[in-house]
Amino acid sequence: AHTIVLFTQDLRLHDHPALHAASREGETVLPVFVLDPALLRRSARNRVRALLDILNDLRDGLRSLGGDLVVRHGDTVTEVAALARETGADTVHVTEGVTRTATNRAERLREAGLRVVSHPGLTVVPPGDVTPASGDHYKVFTPYLRAWEAHPWRSVLPEPDEVRSPEGVDPGKIPARLDEGRGSLAERPLAMGETAARQRLCSWLDSGLAHYADRHDDLPAGATSHLSADLRFGCLSPLEAAVLARDEPGGAEFVRQLAWRDFHHQVTAAFPDMGIRDYRPRDTRWRDDPAALKAWKEGRTGVPIVDAGMRQLLREGFMHNRTRMITAAFLTRTLGVHWRAGAEHFADHLLDGDVANNNGNWQWVAGTGNDTRPNRAFNPLRQARRFDPEGVYVRRYVPELAELPGRAAHTPWDSLLGPDDYPPPIASPGS
Ligand code: FAD
Repeated sequence: AHTIVLFTQDLRLHDHPALHAASREGETVLPVFVLDPALLRRSARNRVRALLDILNDLRDGLRSLGGDLVVRHGDTVTEVAALARETGADTVHVTEGVTRTATNRAERLREAGLRVVSHPGLTVVPPGDVTPASGDHYKVFTPYLRAWEAHPWRSVLPEPDEVRSPEGVDPGKIPARLDEGRGSLAERPLAMGETAARQRLCSWLDSGLAHYADRHDDLPAGATSHLSADLRFGCLSPLEAAVLARDEPGGAEFVRQLAWRDFHHQVTAAFPDMGIRDYRPRDTRWRDDPAALKAWKEGRTGVPIVDAGMRQLLREGFMHNRTRMITAAFLTRTLGVHWRAGAEHFADHLLDGDVANNNGNWQWVAGTGNDTRPNRAFNPLRQARRFDPEGVYVRRYVPELAELPGRAAHTPWDSLLGPDDYPPPIASPGS
C-alpha cells in the first residue's frame, strides 16, 4: 500500500521520524506538501519567499533518494484526501504540532477517514513527555529545565537510504514566486532549505558555539547561531542540533536556549490560545496609542536602541534576542501598548516568526506569561550601554546617528550637535 507523509514544519530528510517510519512501513511513500492559501495569507512575506526555496531543496533531496515531493495548492485536508483517493493510500504520517492549526488539521484528516500517525520531531523533548507531578505542563522554566535535562532523548535518525514514490502521480509545480503574506520583505534573503541549514549548523559548531557563552548578548557582534529560521521551518532537527552541540564548549548554554524553545512549545500545546489570550490574566490597562505604535513599528521612537532593533527587523527579517526583549519591553511596559500588537508586527516580519516562540516570549516580556518576576524593571538606556557599549549596533541600523561617537549615539538628546532628522524620544528611555 502507499503511505502519505504530510510535511508541515518539518521540512527536512535527516532525523525525520515520520518519513523514517513511513519508508519502512509502506511499500511506496508519497511525500506531500500543500501550499494552503489560508495559511499563506496569514504568513509573513519573508517566510513565504523562504518556503519556496525550502521546498525546492526538499524536492531535490527526495529526488536524489529516488522519490519526489508532491506539491499541491489548496486546502490541506481536501488536497491530502484527494491524493489518498487517487493513490489508494489510507495512512498519513505527520510530525505532531502544537498549534491549533496543527491539531485541527490532524482532526479533520481523521474525519476524512484517514489513519493519522503522529511522530515526534518538532522539539528536542516532545511536549507532554515531561510533566509536573500536578498538571499537564510546566508553567515556569527552571523546574521545566530540570525535568527536561533528566529526560532521556530518542536516537537521532539518519536520512532514509531510499524513498520510493508511486508512479503516475503528478508531482505538481513549486511556483517561482508567490505574492502572498504580510509585512515587508527583508533586503538580503538568507539561503534557506535543509542543505543551507546543515551548512550553517556545521560552521556554527566549528567556529561560533565556543564563544556563545561569552558573546550571546553582545549586540554589535551578533554572535548567536542564526539557526532560528532553520528550526522554525524544521530544516534542522532540534534534537540533532542539541546532540551535536551538548558536549562542546558553549554547548550547555546553547542547548539551554533549545530548552526554552521546547518550553514554549509545551506551553502552547497545553494552552493553544497563547496568541490571543493572556496566559496569566493580569489587571493591566493597555493604552490605545496608534501614533506610538506606528513610531515603534517604523523605528522612529527617538530611543536609539529601540529604533535600531526595530529597523534591524525591517531590514533583515531578524532581530537580536537582546533587542527583541528591549523593544518588546518598551512597547508593553514603557508605552503600555498591548503585547498582541507587538507580537503581530514581529510575526509579520520575522523569518523565524513562530506561534509558540513569538507569543510565549511576548507574554513573558509583557508579564502576562510565565515570567516568575512579571514586574521586572527594564531600562532601555541601561540595557543599551551594557550590551552596545560603543554604540556600534545603534549606528549600524540608525544612520541618522552616524556622526555621534561612541556611546553618545545612545543619547542624541544630550548632544549639542544632535541630528535634526531624528525625533526626540516619545517616552522616557530611563537614565
Ligand atoms: P541563539 O541564541 O543561537 O539560540 C539558539 C536557538 O534557541 C534559537 O535559534 C531558537 O530556536 C532557540 N531560542 C533562543 N532563545 C529563545 C527563546 N527566548 N525562546 C524560544 N526559543 C529560543 N524565536 C523564534 O524562533 N521565533 C519567534 O517568533 C521569536 N519571537 C520572539 C519574540 C520576543 C519578544 C522575544 C524576546 C524573543 C523571541 N524569540 C523568537 C526568541 C529569540 O529571540 C530567537 O529565537 C533568537 O533571537 C534567534 O536567534 P538565534 O537563532 O541566533 O538564537
